[in-house]
Amino acid sequence: MPDKASKRVIVFDTTLRDGEQSPGASLNLTEKLEVARALELLGVDVIEAGFPITSPDDFEAVRAIAREVTKPAVCGLARCVPKDIDRAAEAVAAAKRPRVHVFLATSRIHRQFKLRKARREILRLAVDGVSRAKAAVPDVQFSPEDAARTEPEFLAQVVEAVIDAGAATVNIPDTVGWSTPERFRALIEYLFDRVANIAKAVIAVHCHDDLGMAVANTLAAVQAGARQVEVTVNGIGERAGNAALEEIVMALRTRPDAFAGCSTNIRTNLLYATSRLVSRVTGLAVARNKAVVGENAFAHESGIHADGVLKKRTTYEIMDPRSVGLARSKLVLGKHSGRHQFRRRLGELGFRLSPRQVDGLFGAFKELADRKKEVFDEDLVALVESEVPRAPETWRLCRLTVATATGGMAAATVELQNLKTREHRRDAATGDGPVDAIFHALERMTGVRLVLEDYQIRAVTSGTEAQGEARLQARHGGLSVTGRGVSTDILEASAKAYLSVINRVVARV
Ligand SMILES: [Zn+2]
Repeated sequence: MPDKASKRVIVFDTTLRDGEQSPGASLNLTEKLEVARALELLGVDVIEAGFPITSPDDFEAVRAIAREVTKPAVCGLARCVPKDIDRAAEAVAAAKRPRVHVFLATSRIHRQFKLRKARREILRLAVDGVSRAKAAVPDVQFSPEDAARTEPEFLAQVVEAVIDAGAATVNIPDTVGWSTPERFRALIEYLFDRVANIAKAVIAVHCHDDLGMAVANTLAAVQAGARQVEVTVNGIGERAGNAALEEIVMALRTRPDAFAGCSTNIRTNLLYATSRLVSRVTGLAVARNKAVVGENAFAHESGIHADGVLKKRTTYEIMDPRSVGLARSKLVLGKHSGRHQFRRRLGELGFRLSPRQVDGLFGAFKELADRKKEVFDEDLVALVESEVPRAPETWRLCRLTVATATGGMAAATVELQNLKTREHRRDAATGDGPVDAIFHALERMTGVRLVLEDYQIRAVTSGTEAQGEARLQARHGGLSVTGRGVSTDILEASAKAYLSVINRVVARV
């Protein structure tokens, strides 16, 4: 068990629990399993797979992941109430290394307004909860929710009591992203100072990014002796998100001098592929300037910088792009590239696809190579992400014709195929502009009504023949769903994106 003196930092990934709580990011079972397998391959130590009490789907997903992965511990979250704890324990029971994570708020504001409980009661509930979980699984983690805003001496009391009750890991969350690095570091140091039995547990931290300090706060806690970091891929999570896995891992790896040589077991060359996978299944785009995995993270625009990097990479690059799984070569395939070359390149980009999927994609690749002479890595990634459906496909776009007139009005004629009934449908609609006309036609033809919440277009690669990507978020009843589509034609990309949302709504995923 890594204590303060150990150099090993445990990576606890909560992409599937906290990350999935990002608005619009809900995943279906197949997608959750795909992410869990990718996290296992990446080398995370613990996968927090979900919050089993919240829904039967969440319970099933945690149970399926517990059966599927063997190397990481699989963890289920529970409030400090018996039915939550029992349900979480049941969901992870099949795991090789099951863990139950019990949480209870300890800060004054949560005690007074949310729980309406006095300190003494909180202490008793925490101990009871840990004891109950401990009776069901050997590995129990406890989190005093909103720890960063809890009175430090009360926090120390809680930590000591739950370690006595059998918690092997105690997580100190900055639930609302309120802390600062100096303050958070001091809090962890204070606990190491005050809690008599602290050597019997691993101290973890879980930081939110409301003020953009989640990663800094997490790393400050590592300097103070925390040996488990709770992170998500791409930093997704509630509100502004969590500390980003890739940033923490690469900070430790790139600056051992700053973090006393602490390191993780992460295979960093899989970071880029994992980031793309999570972006694809959640529908949440990675900002171009995002550290480590953003598209521009290793791009040099200034001539002086580019020249420097060509002469000696380390003049302007502190990390080797290959260390995060990014190959330097940009131009890859063209019209004459064969199936074998295509499959190999997809593999190099981190995609693990079945031969059938590769066959299906190869046709789309040939079509793309016809339209666009040079096919770049980004094009391939976009191709896979748009052609491998996130939900069982009901509707497929066959044909799209758009006519626009000055003054803004437009008409769209759309042909769709229902893959279940094999039936073809054709219809036309008008709208204020071409996109509006397309969406009207799709709505009428499928009978699925959506309220558009967000709609964005961007170029996947540069140049006039670049592919355009459309991403949108729409509401259907109480459900917020994201979708994306890619094409060299942005109207077609928009139609595909809208249709992918409709397919998800129809499939109820
Ligand atoms: Zn959180």
